[in-house]
Amino acid sequence: MAGKPPTSDPVQDAPDVTAPQHAAAGLTAVAHSLRIANDQMGVRRTALTLLKVNQKDGFDCPGCAWPEPDKRHAAEFCENGAKAVAEEATLRRVTPAFFADHPVSDLANRSGYWLGQQGRLAQPMHLAEGADHYEPVTWQRAFDIIAEELDALTGPDEAVFYTSGRTSNEAAFLYQLFAREFGTNNLPDCSNMCHESSGSALTETIGIGKGSVLLEDLHKADLIIVAGQNPGTNHPRMLSALEKAKAGGAKIITVNPLPEAGLERFKNPQNARGLSGVGTPLTDLFLQIRLGGDQALFRLLNRLIIETEGAVDTGFVTAHTHGYEEFETAARAADWDDTLRATGLTRDDIQRALDMVLASRRTIVCWAMGLTQHKHAVPTIREIVNFLLLRGNIGRPGAGVCPVRGHSNVQGDRTMGIFERPAPAFLDALEKEFGFAPPREHGLDVVRAIRALRDGQAKVFFAMGGNFVSATPDTDVTEAAVRRARLTVHVSTKLNRSHVVTGARALILPTLGRTERDRQASGDQFVTVEDSMGMVHASRGRLKPASPHLLSETAIVCRLARRALGTRSTTPWETFENDYATIRDRIARVIPGFEDFNNRVAEPGGFTLPHAPRDSRTFPTTTGKANFTAAPVEHPHAPEGRLLLQTLRSHDQYNTTIYGLDDRYRGIKNGRRVVLVHPDDAAELHLADGDYTDIVSEWTDGTERRAPGFRVVHYPTARGCAAAYYPETNVLVPLDHTADTSNTPASKSLVIRLEAARRA
Ligand code: SF4
Repeated sequence: MAGKPPTSDPVQDAPDVTAPQHAAAGLTAVAHSLRIANDQMGVRRTALTLLKVNQKDGFDCPGCAWPEPDKRHAAEFCENGAKAVAEEATLRRVTPAFFADHPVSDLANRSGYWLGQQGRLAQPMHLAEGADHYEPVTWQRAFDIIAEELDALTGPDEAVFYTSGRTSNEAAFLYQLFAREFGTNNLPDCSNMCHESSGSALTETIGIGKGSVLLEDLHKADLIIVAGQNPGTNHPRMLSALEKAKAGGAKIITVNPLPEAGLERFKNPQNARGLSGVGTPLTDLFLQIRLGGDQALFRLLNRLIIETEGAVDTGFVTAHTHGYEEFETAARAADWDDTLRATGLTRDDIQRALDMVLASRRTIVCWAMGLTQHKHAVPTIREIVNFLLLRGNIGRPGAGVCPVRGHSNVQGDRTMGIFERPAPAFLDALEKEFGFAPPREHGLDVVRAIRALRDGQAKVFFAMGGNFVSATPDTDVTEAAVRRARLTVHVSTKLNRSHVVTGARALILPTLGRTERDRQASGDQFVTVEDSMGMVHASRGRLKPASPHLLSETAIVCRLARRALGTRSTTPWETFENDYATIRDRIARVIPGFEDFNNRVAEPGGFTLPHAPRDSRTFPTTTGKANFTAAPVEHPHAPEGRLLLQTLRSHDQYNTTIYGLDDRYRGIKNGRRVVLVHPDDAAELHLADGDYTDIVSEWTDGTERRAPGFRVVHYPTARGCAAAYYPETNVLVPLDHTADTSNTPASKSLVIRLEAARRA
């Protein structure tokens, strides 16, 4: 039997701390995922549902975007995938009676964990202007309200259409089409906050803003460098791929300020050795780098490669690249002492890394938010491209760039045109196919959308999924900005903080989850998604929907478009809603790589999108070649008595969704307000383990921001570098503190001081 949601809110968390673990997964992970799944779904539903996750005839895990191998295990999911599925397929329901019992003023004081634990949203709800209670509303009335508010705008750019990474290709394609027919490119998405820096750097250097490796490349690599990434929590099945790579003889270098259990040793729960044995050690060399030191590290490695006779792949460099001379001059200027200061590494560390790099013929670099959320994230990733180009490590098996995406269709949504700066060729194709003139002016990304809301220039905020106010920086500023909107609308499966920080009016539109059957007029539908490696495949839910009042995301967009656009639109929205294959036919005509979409996606496992650098060593850049770049080396500095802080996730957390209050691998239980500090730094700051402190971020304009009441945890981080969970620490990140070029909030290098505090 499934358990009930918590009645009391554990917002006053009280962390218990033990030593960090040195191995991930194994039996404990299996037991933990089953406990959470049974608690949310009951035993029978747990078994039926989990056996369909990531299967060729099943549904795509709503967790991260890690790809599935062609040959699937019966249990093709990880602990965190099981948690994501359990929360979606939960038997708990949030009904109108819940909203009658809980005014918004009450819900606004609840923790994100408590809100999420209440279960699935069961009915469309409306918060009228001046009201404190959401009330049930019909779908028709909900669409009328949105249309009224859109009609009242002085121009289409006063509306913002946000997308989170769960949205299917079909829904995303129609959503951007609706926004553009309405007249705006205001299509910010969660990519703006995660891999925008990767997209910016890769588009400029190799001509496509996506990774160049497939799953089998990881299995063939000689060397895999995992930088700024914690796969054990954020993409757990990546550990299986790393284990397989090791079995094939690969070496792994891990570059991170924190040691992470998953990268130390992996106990694969899919085999007996992992379940009962000691597991597989993964990392061969751990470079415990200071926050933001990665560009300096790769620049020096590049110099050392250039100085090693025969190490540069001159044939590749000559035939396929541009800008080598300028880059070489910059690389030769890399200085050992500067690099050791920026990275906190030793000469021996770097020499050992170089030896492994030179011994490898096929090298892959993987990364995630640890690289993308710095002010100098884009030049850092460009330097990684330089590193790979030097030895011809792009466009051959077992080699390439591998930015690992954290949400199941975040990459696909971008492919479908969810982007505030669409390419002219995409808009031309849209215009030709649908016979309207799309807006050509660039729209707002996430940070600019918050500014527009703050300044009263945006008045309607529509979110297709996600938890905008918890995912974004500068919490107080963002929440105040959202409250200025005339109307906020959230298409959601579960309750979150963004439903209780509202505009003058608000709507909650409950939608189907991935696990659920999607039945339309022409019969059962499936949707498609794209994983982190450009594989597109079908996803079919089987469960009865959580409520008869739910609509699919696709249906919501179609009905909204019909109501809001009326006769202005000649797009066959009703046909699209009735039969998703008709949407795929249009995608096939608009987006390169999706030709014959319906037939190809009918193949079990789907198909791989083309990727010119990987497939043919051709680079669709402005120069027609892969571009070396030579940006100045940067790294963050913390003055005396200050630390650098990175925000991160706990293990019981998926993006902004909090599954529980534990971070098992790091030894934290029953609490989230912790700050991890190296014991020597803590001693210098006169902070004992267990002391309580406020975290105060300091900015060059003299302003500061405060997050109160964090328990100090002595932890083996890199010296000078602290860590604490988001969204609790988003309040410390100013809206204007973003990565150059990509405008991604730079949440990984905040200068902070720790001030003694009374226990919260
Ligand atoms: S690795 Fe990611 S996609 Fe795979 S089961 Fe785990 S959370 Fe889901």
